[in-house]
Amino acid sequence: MAIKAPKGTKDMMPEDAYKWHYIEDAFFKICDEYGFGELRTPIFEDTNLFNRGVGETTDIVQKEMYTFEDLGHRSITLKPEGTSPAVRAFIESKHFADMQPSKYCYNTPCFRYEKPQAGRLRQFHQFGIENFGASSMMADAEIIAMADDFLKRMGIDEIELHINSVGCRECRTKYRKALQDFLRPHYDELCSTCQSRFETNPMRILDCKSKDDQEIVKDAPLMVDYLCDDCRDAFEELQENLKAMDIQFKVDPKIVRGLDYYTKTAFEFVTTKIGAQGTVCGGGRYDHLIEEIGGPSMPGVGFGLGKERLLMLMEMCGSDFGKPVQPEIMIAFIGNRAKHYALNLVQYLRHNHVRAIVDTQERNLKGQMKYSNKVGVKYSIVIGDDEIESGELTLKNMETGEQTKIVKEEILDKIRRG
Ligand code: ATP
Ligand code: MG
Repeated sequence: MAIKAPKGTKDMMPEDAYKWHYIEDAFFKICDEYGFGELRTPIFEDTNLFNRGVGETTDIVQKEMYTFEDLGHRSITLKPEGTSPAVRAFIESKHFADMQPSKYCYNTPCFRYEKPQAGRLRQFHQFGIENFGASSMMADAEIIAMADDFLKRMGIDEIELHINSVGCRECRTKYRKALQDFLRPHYDELCSTCQSRFETNPMRILDCKSKDDQEIVKDAPLMVDYLCDDCRDAFEELQENLKAMDIQFKVDPKIVRGLDYYTKTAFEFVTTKIGAQGTVCGGGRYDHLIEEIGGPSMPGVGFGLGKERLLMLMEMCGSDFGKPVQPEIMIAFIGNRAKHYALNLVQYLRHNHVRAIVDTQERNLKGQMKYSNKVGVKYSIVIGDDEIESGELTLKNMETGEQTKIVKEEILDKIRRG
């Protein structure tokens, strides 16, 4: 039986590649404009990085990681997200000793053992940015502003920015207790996942996808009502900063990133256009993460943006992806002598950055022309004995049928003028 791609993975074929290139070029362009420099880290890391950096109580660590032992008996994990590796690289390179902030961006595959469905894969791809070293809400606003700007540039209109504050260790401890007190009488009605979250990570119950659980948490106490003065001021400051940048948002008290090292800002860009997996971009502040991973005590804030969900949404919105790149000219040939002339000519054109092709199947002239039609070239030249002897070539415009007598040196000029 033929071997298939692993469940939850997708190939990118050349006919779709231009869309990926389009969003990647746009992403790195905007990163340049906002001052984020590209960071690349390995596809796999020491498993402990994610145990610490994502957190033992999260779904990711508990049931979604691709973990294996390598031949040297090390526990290795394919990266399920980009922030912890970025933090590790930041610490390992000692860039924490530089003048701050350090601003990084990345484009990476991520691996999570999830139930595959539309917008949910086992290998998916993320853009991300991180700002390390800034505690000011200007950094949070800048991160959000870049996501907002990028999504707009990608032609996405129907999307909402939801923001929340998850507080700090102090105020969250009080909130956590209030939430547990509220949920305790409903414990038996919660789904089994949320029952296990009750002690370890009760805030995650708030964003459980189960309808019954949603009903239970409808009137649960909200973190915003428990924020300490510092966290409340920060949340207000963030909103002022966003308003100053004309960025529309909604306060959504149900957004959580229920981990100890997540602090203050949490945000999501959400749409109903692509079905249930409507969060295209999510992020927030993590003032204890760098320390948790073994670096100095230093704040951080960032986002992750799913490229597959972005592409789905762009398709729905009829966004412009640019066009697939096509070859410009086909050099056809009749006979062996002409083949070598054609090879020489096609190489001359390519050295001059013309997208030129020859038929490597060595079909007869009819077959070569059929092939050039399939590929969709704009021009063709047929080489035969006459052309070799006289040096006079016939350039055919395949769209208009127009034929022009030309010598080799004139081809570049003619093609560039269109
Ligand atoms: P979700 O609530 O949809 O599971 P998440 O909170 O697990 O998302 P993050 O860890 O914040 O997601 O990752 C950032 C972004 O990566 C998400 O907003 C989404 O666009 C994308 N993403 C996450 N998991 C997947 C997946 N399995 N397949 C495709 N894209 C994903
Ligand atoms: Mg998830």
